[in-house]
Amino acid sequence: MKCIGVLTSGGDTPGMNAAIRAVFKEGENRGINVMGIYHGYKGLIAGMVRQLTHEDVANVMHKGGTVLRTARSEEFRTPEGFQKALDMLHAFDIEGLIVIGGDGSYRGAKMLSDNGIKTIGIPGTIDNDLGYTDFTIGFDTAVNTITSEIYKIRDTMRAHDRVGVIEVMGRNCGDIALWAGVAGAADIILVPECNLPWEEATHQLVTNKLKGKLTSIVIIAEGAGKAEEFASYVREHSDIEIKAIVPGYIQRGGNPTAFDRVLAARLGQRAVELLDADIGGRAVGIHDNHIVDVSLDEAIARPDNFDQKLYHFNSVLAKF
Ligand code: ATP
Repeated sequence: MKCIGVLTSGGDTPGMNAAIRAVFKEGENRGINVMGIYHGYKGLIAGMVRQLTHEDVANVMHKGGTVLRTARSEEFRTPEGFQKALDMLHAFDIEGLIVIGGDGSYRGAKMLSDNGIKTIGIPGTIDNDLGYTDFTIGFDTAVNTITSEIYKIRDTMRAHDRVGVIEVMGRNCGDIALWAGVAGAADIILVPECNLPWEEATHQLVTNKLKGKLTSIVIIAEGAGKAEEFASYVREHSDIEIKAIVPGYIQRGGNPTAFDRVLAARLGQRAVELLDADIGGRAVGIHDNHIVDVSLDEAIARPDNFDQKLYHFNSVLAKF
């Protein structure tokens, strides 16, 4: 291949820049021109495409966000919009495309692949909701961000003998809640994958209080409900003083961890390697510390592997 494109799509995630840099460097190493497509599929339709240079990827690896910007595009999902995107790829002589994003972006990549563009997906989402890969780029950073937040929140909750319930991102996936909950020594973790009844969770908080533990931390994944709703439920059914905290977008920003940067480098390298071997329609990922690739169909369809064993062990860790 002589010319490939790279875009970031959907929610941004720390580590996207490290992946773009790896794609550019590996492309250059193989004598392939790498075109940067700005603002995801939306920018592709609008022709926001230009050749990347060293300056574009210099001094960006440690930064959150994405130098290519990202977007969501409804137009891309229409036949007319999709055709415009295809025409644009042909106009810029882009033979292969690397899409860094989540499952929605992969669906778009699959459509392009079905229409003759060799396409590779790199998992860029903090949610870790793609079952074919153990980790997505940005997940580790988001978990570290929440873990340090938990300790700050615990300080102030303890000063007032309060319970704190922290709502974390992840859409329908409880991985951020689970990992940050275990790392932050949460007392209760509420995730969509394991429907712990709120009545039971409240009972646990009351028992903790009776035993003398006046401060507890609850982590609730956004897919399992809202922190404020859980706090209202607890207030209605007990005399516990509870505060709801929603850290929000800080989970998506910040410097990527070393783990995310190295993962991004490995996945970016493999994505270019596949395209250079004229292989498309694949998604790269990591499994048991090996870089793997599966078809985009499988990447989209494979259900998330939620670690039930770790989830249940947290109630042992949290015993008081
Ligand atoms: P995140 O999970 O971090 O939000 P994502 O990639 O899942 O990332 P989406 O908003 O679902 O984010 O998708 C990004 C873009 O991909 C959409 O705006 C749209 O242009 C395209 N896309 C999503 N779903 C489809 C689909 N079914 N067919 C074609 N294109 C799609």
